[in-house]
Amino acid sequence: MCKKVEKDKSIRTRMIGMALLPILVLSLLIIFIGMALLYRLYTQSIRNELTATTNVVLDCLNLTVRGDYAYESGMLLKGDLNITDSTMLYRVQEKAQIDISIFWQDTRILSTVSNEYGVSAVGTRAGREAVEAVLERGECYYSTNLDINGVPYIGYYMPMKNADGTIVGMIFAGKKKDMVYQGIKAIMLCFLGVSIVASILAVIISSVYSSRMTSDISLINKYLKTISEGDLTVNLDKRISSRKDELGRIGEYASRMRTDLKKMIERDPLTSLYNRRSCNNRLRALEDAQTEYTVVMCDIDWFKKINDTYGHDAGDYVLVTLSGLIRENVKGCGFASRWGGEEFLLVYQLPHDAALQKVRQMQQNVREYDFTYEGKKLKVTMTFGVGADKGSVPFEQRISLADGSLYVGKNNGRNQIVDGED
Ligand code: GH3
Ligand code: MG
Ligand code: MG
Repeated sequence: MCKKVEKDKSIRTRMIGMALLPILVLSLLIIFIGMALLYRLYTQSIRNELTATTNVVLDCLNLTVRGDYAYESGMLLKGDLNITDSTMLYRVQEKAQIDISIFWQDTRILSTVSNEYGVSAVGTRAGREAVEAVLERGECYYSTNLDINGVPYIGYYMPMKNADGTIVGMIFAGKKKDMVYQGIKAIMLCFLGVSIVASILAVIISSVYSSRMTSDISLINKYLKTISEGDLTVNLDKRISSRKDELGRIGEYASRMRTDLKKMIERDPLTSLYNRRSCNNRLRALEDAQTEYTVVMCDIDWFKKINDTYGHDAGDYVLVTLSGLIRENVKGCGFASRWGGEEFLLVYQLPHDAALQKVRQMQQNVREYDFTYEGKKLKVTMTFGVGADKGSVPFEQRISLADGSLYVGKNNGRNQIVDGED
């Protein structure tokens, strides 16, 4: 069975393809159309050059000497004057690299054309098509496919007439094909070179741009993959956040989603304090880093009564307000979590005595705070159980020691701090 080839379908490949394909197609079109146009222009200009040359030679003969053409005893006469002189023809050939021939009827009687061995074309005859067009029909004749004396030529024939309109011969101007194609080749190569360099530059610029874009897409892709695997500590690359386009906004939404998700997983929705699970993780991290810390378990006194007397919303108000006071208290020296219901675990990254000071401060702040809900003043107190400074004891044990102290405080009448070290 034929095995299916797995195609690379990444956006990167597609984008680079999308950017490069039009450039390549466009470059090829420009090269082909440009070269065809150049070829036409060049051959057209050759034709014009040859036409102009035959006109000039004919005008020179007609205007300088009066009388009809005649060919007698190997001499070309104009009126009474012998004009069997090739000097002017060789001068034109020298200046313009254009060969000239003068025909009497279909035979060359004066010519600058010679083959590679230097044998002159004088005495050779014009081709059948040229003879038919010029001598029989009185037209001019142009061909890119002539063979003169064994040499390929591009040439132009014009009728030579007497005053009464009788066609007596032809004027020919032509260029060797080799020379013409050498000129075209040089121009074409120059055009081709410039086009290829321009296309390569366009390909490089567009591939750099699209690969920068796709590498940013890969960064966002990696960021979202890390989040989806449960790691919410990852940060978005600064290159994405500094982008002002759609990719920048996708990055911003992804980053916001990560923050919200982290909050949802780590924080208690009512108070925004850490929940029990993330508090345990943080304590484990402190323990791993061998950081000094003190735990304090605290609980609102007679909270049920607040709910029962003023309603559940009043109870929520107390929980939220107290959480604010707790957050202020642990700021810069630890963290706090809502352990459950109206119970909180405070973690101070401080030695026992300094933590105890902080707890006293907290108790005083609660006592002094004006808890007023819907115009009703609520009496709120808390009981605190401070864990003993037990060095390398696991955090679970420290918590249960603090919980024990809290229990003692509750039994001793509440609204007090019980130090596990006492
Ligand atoms: P103690 O001084 O012994 O702690 O007495 P208490 O009334 O505070 O303790 P108890 O365990 O009897 O009652 C706790 C109450 O806290 C019961 C429960 O309805 C209330 N509670 C727990 N979570 C919430 C909450 O999210 N919002 C409100 N409004 N009340 C809550
Ligand atoms: Mg309570
Ligand atoms: Mg309780």
